[in-house]
Amino acid sequence: MRRSLPADYGIEQFALTARDVFFVKLRYIKFEEPMERWLKSQFYLFYKIWIAPSDDSADAILGVGSSCGFDVGEKFYQLFCKNVRTPPYRVVREELGTTPYHRALHSFVADGFIAMGDAACLTKPNNGEGTTAALALEEIAAEVAAEAMRGGAYPTRAALWPINKRYNDGQGKEFTFVLAVFARAVAHSIRMNDFLFAHDAIFSKKIIGAVGGSSGIGPGEIAKAIFFILYGMATGNIKPKEIGGMLAGGVRGLRILLHYARYPAAPAGFPAWVKKADRLWDSVGRMADYQIEI
Ligand SMILES: Cc1cc2nc3c(=O)[nH]c(=O)nc-3n(C[C@H](O)[C@H](O)[C@H](O)COP(=O)(O)OP(=O)(O)OC[C@H]3O[C@@H](n4cnc5c(N)ncnc54)[C@H](O)[C@@H]3O)c2cc1C
Repeated sequence: MRRSLPADYGIEQFALTARDVFFVKLRYIKFEEPMERWLKSQFYLFYKIWIAPSDDSADAILGVGSSCGFDVGEKFYQLFCKNVRTPPYRVVREELGTTPYHRALHSFVADGFIAMGDAACLTKPNNGEGTTAALALEEIAAEVAAEAMRGGAYPTRAALWPINKRYNDGQGKEFTFVLAVFARAVAHSIRMNDFLFAHDAIFSKKIIGAVGGSSGIGPGEIAKAIFFILYGMATGNIKPKEIGGMLAGGVRGLRILLHYARYPAAPAGFPAWVKKADRLWDSVGRMADYQIEI
């Protein structure tokens, strides 16, 4: 529906290409030996692989995500099987799906219309979670739409606009920064991955495993990240080039975040805001642009 509205309706109509989505393959696994119920989420960021709790049909879910196509993820899965020790398991079921990995729509609202969920590209940039990310917008949308339609009024674009403003003042702004950093941060060596993983820094449970409405990035995590970057460089576990990519993403992410902090309070300032936002996003590039060949 978003893509089929008239071009001048006020909603972006772009289609998501293979370079704008994350291809996800889930393997439901049963461990060969009896184990305690698997309740943690373990992430292996270099491989874009994680092991997470399952429903009762399996002991855990081993997920593989990749830009560009399922075949790319399979190559990383083969390498993962070779390099990473896991408890022995067998696969009992597989599921395939895609999830957007793209900045959210510049505007979620138009005349009598609100875009939400995957259609609005609302996924958490640090782990692809779409359900909770979408709920943050939906909560705002329910309040604003109720107000806009009070007494039987028609929900015009202007009346729904506070949805854009309130969302981008909160989660929207925060996600821009995380998306810009992660697009670059995932392109790193196995050695850097193992180092940061061992110290639970940057690719930490708190950040990658963050659930709910926040990305999990607070001052404590940032200070820890800076310390382990310096420590990693001093010990040769992190190459300056790898940090350069992350820093470039961070600087661009910060510029975008500051631009989103000035999201227009009314539709009048929107066209000029979009022009600059597009320019800034172009400078960030996409995760698919930094895909490592193995
Ligand atoms: C493998 C995988 C694992 C994931 N794991 C998690 C997770 O652990 N946690 C999390 O938070 N998120 C996860 N996500 C993301 C999450 O599933 C999505 O973000 C979420 O389902 C999006 O909800 P939605 O309602 O916007 O879209 P969808 O769930 O895609 O629903 C859209 C619906 O619209 C229907 N539809 C489409 N076109 C039409 C049409 N023309 N007419 C009528 N109906 C139509 C579709 O059939 C579909 O039922 C995962 C995604 C994948 C692919």
